[in-house]
Amino acid sequence: MHELTLAEIARGLADKSFSSEELTGALLARVKQIDPQINSFISVTEALALGQARAADARRAAGETGALLGAPIAHKDLFCTLGVRTSCGSKMLDNFKAPYDATVVAKLAEAGMVTLGKTNMDEFAMGSANESSHYGAVKNPWNLEHVPGGSSGGSAAAVAARLLPATTGTDTGGSIRQPAALTNLTGLKPTYGRVSRWGMIAYASSLDQGGPLARTAEDCALLLQGMAGFDAKDSTSIDEPVPDYSAALNGSLQGLRIGLPKEYFGAGLDPRIAELVQASVKELEKLGAVVKEISLPNMQHAIPAYYVIAPAEASSNLSRFDGVRFGYRCEAPKDLTDLYKRSRGEGFGTEVQRRIMVGTYALSAGYYDAYYVKAQQIRRLIKNDFMAAFNDVDLILGPTTPNPAWKLGAKSSDPVAAYLEDVYTITANLAGLPGLSMPAGFVDGLPVGVQLLAPYFQEGRLLNVAHRYQQVTDWHTRAPNGF
Ligand code: GLN
Repeated sequence: MHELTLAEIARGLADKSFSSEELTGALLARVKQIDPQINSFISVTEALALGQARAADARRAAGETGALLGAPIAHKDLFCTLGVRTSCGSKMLDNFKAPYDATVVAKLAEAGMVTLGKTNMDEFAMGSANESSHYGAVKNPWNLEHVPGGSSGGSAAAVAARLLPATTGTDTGGSIRQPAALTNLTGLKPTYGRVSRWGMIAYASSLDQGGPLARTAEDCALLLQGMAGFDAKDSTSIDEPVPDYSAALNGSLQGLRIGLPKEYFGAGLDPRIAELVQASVKELEKLGAVVKEISLPNMQHAIPAYYVIAPAEASSNLSRFDGVRFGYRCEAPKDLTDLYKRSRGEGFGTEVQRRIMVGTYALSAGYYDAYYVKAQQIRRLIKNDFMAAFNDVDLILGPTTPNPAWKLGAKSSDPVAAYLEDVYTITANLAGLPGLSMPAGFVDGLPVGVQLLAPYFQEGRLLNVAHRYQQVTDWHTRAPNGF
């Protein structure tokens, strides 16, 4: 049963080949047996899952239908989950049980999904390797000596290892698309404002967006359908109707104009990845797409701009973790200042502390104009580049990452080397655009992803292109050895 996709599970539950309770029991057993190898779960919510599964079976017996009714899910451990530890991968929140459900969690539960647990992640979603978690590194099922990508590394590794068919993730600078690429999954970062951020613990609020990770575009469509929509509780949520994403999957690609940014294929890109990207373009051409070269001239400024804006917002968002109201508190503080200093010093890991310091510096008097305002100006230029490009093309295509998954520890003492891995993904967050990564081949036995970017609210177009591609290729069906 663990090999079924979400769409196959929906059919199996509908035709009563199995019940949600049977499926849930089988997957929980598999998580227990397999997860110690990859460490993709922080918490397994067995009792919650079995209760939800029985309730879903009862709803179905009473005549209810729905693709997600009784299907399994696990949430990245920054989606608040009522009564369940929501740690954000941090010692700071190790003892935090959320007093409410995030909107995404609530919506998927209402649709009948069964929560198997909470997945491992880089601490406070800061990272690209899932090595900064308080709960230990996650391992890539494709090669246990390699990282799975981050920060939604647990969400990605769990699906890649066939523990369950789909998970939620969040993407501030690539954290859905990059781990999807590194573990042979399809991952979608929606348009900023498409999916509610309410109850999603904030990293950088103007960039954060939740979305689905699964093996296929078809499954991402099902999951996005359940996650998307206006939420009055999130002031940046956008009141746009949610289209039928599954209905969009089979659209023709005849005449679809695909832009290849020349800046994406320069120095720094592994030439073997460049070849696989070109091969994916050939497949799409066979399906009727027309390809042209475009330019995104400000792309080279994206990493420096992002690594000012994201830490600046993080330094503000993370000020709430002060040892007073919730989360970790140091032992026997001498006075209030000592309480703040030691609670934060002991509760936050190195990368989080680094970002808080960078962000606080960038926002401080005298430096605000030089760093933060400048970075925001670059952000606008990057958005303008995309707007100009989308006058000429319907879709932008390129690599998701410059390299395949690296070895555990290989970049942990060199944060800038890790930041450079985000070069292709962060621009979509700076501009607020939707992006998708899909499996496109292997290099040294490690998966490679192709990234598609579309104009605002064109998630349906991304899923359509990925689905058509997945009908003529089989990269996405390959499973890692031993899983
Ligand atoms: N790797 C990027 C960072 O560390 C992106 C992380 C994310 O998208 N949450 O900030």
